[in-house]
Amino acid sequence: MKSKAKFLKNALSWLLLFTVLVVAPLFLAIIGHQEESRGFWIEFGVGLGFVGLAMMGLQFVLTARYSKIGAPFGLDELLQFHGQAGYIAWLFIMGHFIVLFLANSDFHAFLDPTVNFPRALALSAVLVSITALIAMTHWREKFGLIYEWWRASHGLLALFLVFVGTVHIMQVSHYITEVWQQTVWIGLSLVAMGMLIHNRVWRPLQMKKRPYKVVGVEEEVDTIWNLELEPVGHEGLQFRPGQFVWLTLGDTPFSLQQHPFTISSAPHEKNIRLTIKELGDFTSDVGKVEIGTTAFLEGPYGNFTIDQSSSAHNVFVIGGIGITPAISTLKYVLENKLNQQITLFFGTPSKKLTPFYDELQEYSKLENVNLIHIFEEPPEGWEGETGFIDADILKRHLPENFTEECEFYICGPPPMMDAVEPQLHEWGVPVHRLHSERFNIV
Ligand SMILES: Cc1cc2nc3c(=O)[nH]c(=O)nc-3n(C[C@H](O)[C@H](O)[C@H](O)COP(=O)(O)OP(=O)(O)OC[C@H]3O[C@@H](n4cnc5c(N)ncnc54)[C@H](O)[C@@H]3O)c2cc1C
Repeated sequence: MKSKAKFLKNALSWLLLFTVLVVAPLFLAIIGHQEESRGFWIEFGVGLGFVGLAMMGLQFVLTARYSKIGAPFGLDELLQFHGQAGYIAWLFIMGHFIVLFLANSDFHAFLDPTVNFPRALALSAVLVSITALIAMTHWREKFGLIYEWWRASHGLLALFLVFVGTVHIMQVSHYITEVWQQTVWIGLSLVAMGMLIHNRVWRPLQMKKRPYKVVGVEEEVDTIWNLELEPVGHEGLQFRPGQFVWLTLGDTPFSLQQHPFTISSAPHEKNIRLTIKELGDFTSDVGKVEIGTTAFLEGPYGNFTIDQSSSAHNVFVIGGIGITPAISTLKYVLENKLNQQITLFFGTPSKKLTPFYDELQEYSKLENVNLIHIFEEPPEGWEGETGFIDADILKRHLPENFTEECEFYICGPPPMMDAVEPQLHEWGVPVHRLHSERFNIV
């Protein structure tokens, strides 16, 4: 069982490091600064700008897909934090402009094209870009923005903002006067921007050396497909059950179409199986993928994995396509004859629309596996659970002391997760024993 202390220590250390890095520019600016204060509001406004820019730079770190950074949290939580930090950075940067504008009319010159046209243009573009960045993320679906275009524009706008912000600081140079201070700022900005380039250029180059070939496309159930990928010229992927990869189909890994899917095969199998539900433009065409198509995988990523060294009772609360991490875990536990008790709550619309139904029936015959199917529309003669997974169903099948002895793994449609997570927490399951994987990260 994961220790609560370790979890809290990890989470707190990261939060502390984030806070220190966000306020570090203020110290960098103060060190060696001799000039007289220009009054509270001006200094406050300047401080908002420094912190806002530092937060923007750190956004690149949060989204750089480094497993060490995501380790204590998981992708969805990290991206949620990234989203919230984005709103706060927006507030700081807008606050920087507004406070300075109101504090002293001299600052109006910064946006006056007759004083300095390129500067006014760049800074106005910053205000528009950062607002657009937030609005396009918040209302992406309302604006009808395709995910891939949103992601590409998101990265480019963020690069532009950090670049102009750094140039702005150098040009104003009120606090950053020393060469070493300028070097530190430029260095940090380059590191931040470099992470995006590492992510979008270096990683695809690495993936190019390790291609896969589609060797199977099979309908699992209506609108859900199994895609089987064979490594070409390499030994394949090492991963833990429950982890996911980013999939790109086609001859080049430099594609805007890169989608995350949990691996539904087990680590001991050489070929990788992804089980994909039709949803939007990419997934709806997955059944038409031709055998022999080249594929690229980035990863593995994620923390939705059981702790195999513990003897915990693992409880999976799963809805629909959320079964992919659970099926990989079940296969893994059985293959390795692990002494792990597994209870699987699995909610689906009907028996016909239940992926891996037969396979799960086989597993449920084992002593250490307890399978509870919940059908919205049960088959005739069904005596098991029906409807949606709710508190009553959970309580009926959980062991008495589940708050102490179970690790929970929750994956499914957002309404299910939004109901189950707080319910378990309310019953006393500590957060470090609640593991969630959300398939709708943005
Ligand atoms: C960690 C993780 C694991 C997942 N595992 C599975 C799985 O095993 N099986 C499965 O069927 N689905 C899985 N998904 C969901 C899958 O990634 C999306 O359904 C798919 O990307 C939708 O693409 P689309 O173009 O068909 O749909 P769209 O209509 O374009 O998108 C629908 C929604 O999917 C998400 N999405 C779309 N494109 C991307 C992208 N490139 N990157 C991230 N999110 C995107 C967005 O929230 C979007 O609103 C997983 C998602 C995550 C985050």
